[in-house]
Amino acid sequence: MRKPQYRLTRSGRYRDFQRQKVYDWERAHVFPEKEFREIMSIAECQVIVNKAYEYFGLIGPPEVHDGRGRRSACGSIYAVRLPKWARFTEVVLHEAAHGISSRLCMRIKVPIETMFRMATNGTSDEYADLVFQPGHGEVFVRIFVELLRHYGHNEFSLLSSLEESGVKWNDQSYCEPEGRST
Ligand SMILES: [Zn+2]
Repeated sequence: MRKPQYRLTRSGRYRDFQRQKVYDWERAHVFPEKEFREIMSIAECQVIVNKAYEYFGLIGPPEVHDGRGRRSACGSIYAVRLPKWARFTEVVLHEAAHGISSRLCMRIKVPIETMFRMATNGTSDEYADLVFQPGHGEVFVRIFVELLRHYGHNEFSLLSSLEESGVKWNDQSYCEPEGRST
């Protein structure tokens, strides 16, 4: 039997098993070179977050805040915080994808108790990803790619670079907006 990807750490949290791989991948294949990054205002970043949520048919996007003083950006269903260096499209979409992946979990037509049981006993990595939201799991990656595609990145090259980088993604249809045009 293969080892489940999601295991509890000693502190009782689920390991964000491919975080560093995702960071390395996006630096190599997704983010534009520093001199080509168009730094936006918080209001412009808010528009991108709003559109990303809208694209997935979700209402109530998180508010974008000035994350100056923080080293890194962060995003959840409640808020997106962006230090100045991070105010370009690809990072904003990354942070939007965190909140969106948390909310898409609700689209699955499996009772939460079943998902929780299969996630905790190691029989379903997919449910573990959805139930425990480790951060940069497979659902997150798929949503991020979908948003990048929507913003003009080439889906095929994104997916092949993920493959090359050993980053896993989920290809279930609930990771796509309803009525996506291919
Ligand atoms: Zn992240």
